[in-house]
Amino acid sequence: MEKRMSTEELAERFDRAIDEGHIYALYQPQINHATGRMIGAEALMRWKDPEYGMQYPADFIPALEEKGLIYRADLYLFEQICRFQRKIMESGLNPVPISFNISRFDIYEHDYVTVIEEIRNRVNVPVRLLRAEITESSAIGGMELVEDLLSKLHEAGYVVEMDDFGSGYSSLNILKDLSVDVIKLDMRFMSGNVGGRGGIIISSMVQMTKWLRTPVIAEGVETMEQADYMKSIGCNYIQGYLYSKPISDEEFTKELDRLDHEPMAAAMKLVDTMNAGKFWSPESLETLIFSNFVGGAAIFTYENGKAEILRVNPKYIKEIGMNMNAHDFIDKNPWRNLGIEGKRAYEFAIKKAIKSNEEETVETWRTFESRCCGEEKICIRSNIRVIGRAGEQYLIYAMIQNITAEKKRYIDLFDSERRFRFASEQANVYAWEFDFRTREMRPCFRCMRDLHLPPVIRNYPEPVFDDGVFPEDYREMYYKMLSDLENGAESAEAVIPLTVGRVPFHVRYTTEFDENGKPLKAYGSATLVVDNAEEE
Ligand code: C2E
Ligand code: CA
Ligand code: CA
Repeated sequence: MEKRMSTEELAERFDRAIDEGHIYALYQPQINHATGRMIGAEALMRWKDPEYGMQYPADFIPALEEKGLIYRADLYLFEQICRFQRKIMESGLNPVPISFNISRFDIYEHDYVTVIEEIRNRVNVPVRLLRAEITESSAIGGMELVEDLLSKLHEAGYVVEMDDFGSGYSSLNILKDLSVDVIKLDMRFMSGNVGGRGGIIISSMVQMTKWLRTPVIAEGVETMEQADYMKSIGCNYIQGYLYSKPISDEEFTKELDRLDHEPMAAAMKLVDTMNAGKFWSPESLETLIFSNFVGGAAIFTYENGKAEILRVNPKYIKEIGMNMNAHDFIDKNPWRNLGIEGKRAYEFAIKKAIKSNEEETVETWRTFESRCCGEEKICIRSNIRVIGRAGEQYLIYAMIQNITAEKKRYIDLFDSERRFRFASEQANVYAWEFDFRTREMRPCFRCMRDLHLPPVIRNYPEPVFDDGVFPEDYREMYYKMLSDLENGAESAEAVIPLTVGRVPFHVRYTTEFDENGKPLKAYGSATLVVDNAEEE
C-alpha cells in the first residue's frame, strides 16, 4: 500500500500530517568504530500517510521545498527532537547530541535561529545536545546568508556540521570561509575506490590546518571494510547501516541504554608545516578527500615562471573533458594549452595569490588537440591559492570548473550586439534571466558575487527593491518595463542607478518568445555607464 504522493497531494495533506503526527523523526546512531561507543545521532524526517503509506525524504523534501513548506516541517521536527531529548533526560538515561537537518531554504528565513532558540528554551534542552547540519548546497549562491546563519548558530552555542561535504564543487573553498565544526563525508558520493593508487600524493595543505583539525563523520558506511578503511586513515566516526539504520525513538532509547557513550573529539593529526620533500601516504584521509570529495582540483609548484603539476584528481580530468589518465596529464607541460595570453593571465593570478595569500580567480581559454575532432577550445575558471612555500618555490592548489558552456551561451546570447560582447569581455557586464511564468530571476555569477544576490530571486523584482539594490524611486518605471516585455515588447532599456553610491547602469532586456509568440523569458544585462557620449 505504499504509493508515492505527488507534490500537490503532499502540500494538501501537510497541515493534517503535522497535526496528526504523520511526520516524525527516526534516529540513526553515530559510533566510534575504534571503541564501539556512541558519539551522537542524526534525526531523519519520515512521513507516513495513513492512505499512501511511507513517503521518502528524497521525494517529499524537494516537494516541501518547492511548496515553501520545508521551514515549518523543519521547525516541527526540531521541536519533536527537543521533546525527545527532554524525555530521555527525564527518564534518567544519558543523552547524546542529536543532529538536525537545516534545509538550504531555511537559510532565507532570517529569524530561523531565534525561532529554534525559542523552542529549545521552551522545551528546556541544553544546546550541547543538539547539532545543526547544513549542506554545502546552501552556500552556493548566498555565502553571506550562510555565514550569517553560522554565526547566529555559533553564538547560540550550536555545534555545526557540514553535511554531504564534497557534493558541491568548491568544497575546500567553502570550508575555508565557513567555520563549521564537523565534516560529514558520505561514502556514497565516493567516485573512486578507497585507497586509490600510489604515486604522487598531496603535499601539505598549510592553509587548511583548520580543516584538518575538524572532526569527520563518515556517513553511509555499509561494510566493515569501509569502516576499517576509514579508521585506518584516522576517521573513526561512523554513521551507516553497518551499525544501524535510522530507528524509531523507542529502539533508539534501547540503543542509548545498551551502548557506552563518548564525546566527539578532533581525531586527526595536525599538519602545520610544509615539507616539500615528504609526501603523504596514499592511505590518508587527505588523499581520500582530495580524490573523492572535492571538485576538479590540482596541486602544482610554481617557481619563477616554471610550473609543475604534482597531482590532479579524477574530477579535474573529467572537468577538462580529456580522455587521459592522470599520469600522462602530469607528465606534460602545464602551460601547453594556454597560449601566450592565457599563460600571462594565469601567472598574473598566481603572483596575486602569492601576494594576497587569498584565493584568486582566473578564466582562461585552452586549446586542446584531439585526434578525432581537431582543435577544441574550452574555457576554464580556476580558483587558485598558495598552500605552501619552500624558498622561492610555491605550492599551489587550484580548483577548476569548465565554464565553456556558460561562456558560449553568453556569447551566443549577445552575439547580435557586438557592443555587448565587447563589454562582456571587458568583464563589465552583469547578466540575468527573468522567467515571466515563475517570476524567478536567475543572476549570473558576477551579480551574485558583487551584489550578494542568491542564485534565484523569487517574485522578482520586488526583493531587489525591498532590499535596496535598486532605488525605490525607480520601482514604478522598472515594473512598467517588465510588464511591457511581458506584453510582447521585444526589448527594453533604461539607465538605472544602483542604490549603493547611485552608480548608473545601462539595463537592457531582450525577450525570448515561444513558438506561438508568447513571451517566455527576458534576458537582462547591465553595463556600467562609463562615458555618456559613448552611449550615443
Ligand atoms: P542526509 O542528511 O545525508 O541523511 C543521510 C541519509 O543516508 C538518510 O537518508 C539515511 O537514512 C541514509 N543512510 C544512512 N546510512 C546509510 C547507509 O549505510 N547506506 C545507505 N544507502 N543510506 C544510508 P534519508 O533518511 O532517506 O534522508 C535523505 C535526505 O533527506 C537526508 O540526507 C537529508 O538531506 C534529507 N532530510 C532528512 N531529514 C530531514 C529533515 O528533517 N529536514 C531536512 N531539511 N532534510 C531532511
Ligand atoms: Ca544530514
Ligand atoms: Ca549526509
